[in-house]
Amino acid sequence: MQVATGKSILNGIAIGKIKVYRAPETVISDRQIDDVEAEMARFEEARQKAIAQQNALYEKALAEAGEETAAVFEVHGMMLDDDDLVDAIREIIAKQRRTAEYAVRTACDNQAKIFAEMDDPYMQARSADIDDIGQSMLDFLTGADPNSLQGTEPSILVAKDLAPSETVRLDKSLLLGFVTREGSTNSHTAILARSMNIPALVQCGDVSADWDGKMAIIDGYNSCIYVDPTDDLFRSLKKKQEEDQAGVALLQELKGKDNTTIDGRTVKVYANIGGPSDIGAVQQNDAGGVGLFRTEFVYLNSRQEPGEEEQFEAYRHVLESLAPKQVIIRTCDIGADKTIDYMKLDHEDNPALGYRAIRICLTRKEFFKKQLRALLRASAYGNMGIMFPMIISVRELREAKEILAECRAELEAEGVKIGQYEIGTMIETPAAVLIADDLAKECDFFSIGTNDLTQYTCAIDRQNAKLEPFSDTHHPAVLREIQMTVEAGHRHGTWVGICGELGADTTLTETFLRMGVDELSVNPKSVLPLRKTIRGLNLSQNE
Ligand code: PEP
Ligand code: MG
Repeated sequence: MQVATGKSILNGIAIGKIKVYRAPETVISDRQIDDVEAEMARFEEARQKAIAQQNALYEKALAEAGEETAAVFEVHGMMLDDDDLVDAIREIIAKQRRTAEYAVRTACDNQAKIFAEMDDPYMQARSADIDDIGQSMLDFLTGADPNSLQGTEPSILVAKDLAPSETVRLDKSLLLGFVTREGSTNSHTAILARSMNIPALVQCGDVSADWDGKMAIIDGYNSCIYVDPTDDLFRSLKKKQEEDQAGVALLQELKGKDNTTIDGRTVKVYANIGGPSDIGAVQQNDAGGVGLFRTEFVYLNSRQEPGEEEQFEAYRHVLESLAPKQVIIRTCDIGADKTIDYMKLDHEDNPALGYRAIRICLTRKEFFKKQLRALLRASAYGNMGIMFPMIISVRELREAKEILAECRAELEAEGVKIGQYEIGTMIETPAAVLIADDLAKECDFFSIGTNDLTQYTCAIDRQNAKLEPFSDTHHPAVLREIQMTVEAGHRHGTWVGICGELGADTTLTETFLRMGVDELSVNPKSVLPLRKTIRGLNLSQNE
């Protein structure tokens, strides 16, 4: 087996035989010409045909990938009409008395180079669009056949690069996925692949012509391609692919639909995420928002403590990408099972009951303030909720809010714009449940962390596999605590969600809705199965 890595465009799996595509070299004749007028006419004819072709591609992309994605071909049409480019080509033909092919190639190469040298990665990626329209005109000038990319069998296409127009022209029934040596994740080719749901890798430096005809698996989740995979790997990725396909079918059926029961009760279904890389999963699974952004992954992914700026960028990116959807960001929940070297936490005999989460934040104020400042700054870019973990007393919640207010005052004095946000408390301990009435007066929402709530209620270490026979995820004590929390929250106008694993347990969905739970936040893949369950419930019928 051979493994090659690249940059993944879509979290998906493609399995099939490889077809290596070698683009035919376009031979450019750069001889001197005598008849400038005839050459100008050849160029104009090719340009008009290229414009017509881009219009046809627009229609095809519109049907297959939607308006937003198809717009690239509208832009290509405009590029083909752009005075700067057209004049540059005409000037080469007229002044240098060169062929239309030579003039198109030279002028397009010059413009593509200008884009490629820009600082902004998005603008850099536009150079591929110039190459694409240039190639389209060259195909018409040289009489090349641009439709000869695919074979007759469904396959994984491997190529040096693919232009957006090549990608949209591909017959989707024959395309399982593609891998390119070049390309970028910002390119229109990547955008097209994503919206057509095609697993693909770009910048995969190790692609080889020897792969032609071999069996392969693109693993978009891990940004790699396995050529001649082992049987075990084949079986496990095949299973993952089938799960994905079931999810896609559910998406077709339920995307855009409400999370409303037959008798009209609506509940929010949000997703749990670990960072900006999960934004796509939230969107693809049509979650209503983010109910838990576990920010400790921002800390765990860094070799040193992430600064205010780095954190601000991560939070801003998530908020902005998902706006106007609500994104509830949990402050750092380090400790217990999540240890980090640079935090220099002492060894503890009982870490789950130890120095963790809000306890660290309240005693390392400067550390905490960095995160709170980053969050407040990011609040201007979307619809944010801030949530404090492992709260066991009103004093802790008040102290956290005071530090937040201190950061706010500092930022306002600096003239920084701050948006609206809600403040929430995680309910993860029996202590929090028992004082939920008092906590509810201090915040806008509760989010019940059933993973820790079960651990602390039942005294079952969630990390200890040996305790599995003793563990009851539906323990009546935990269910009663959820009921108590909802009632306490509602008595004070505080809405209540569940963000622990239990929220995704569809055998309990009816129970939670009957209790009055307002929101369920689950891993992105569970959003649609949960929606399906909710839509099948009728709470007006007797239990
Ligand atoms: C929980 O405890 O249920 C929870 C959501 O937090 P975490 O799993 O991150 O501890
Ligand atoms: Mg927890």
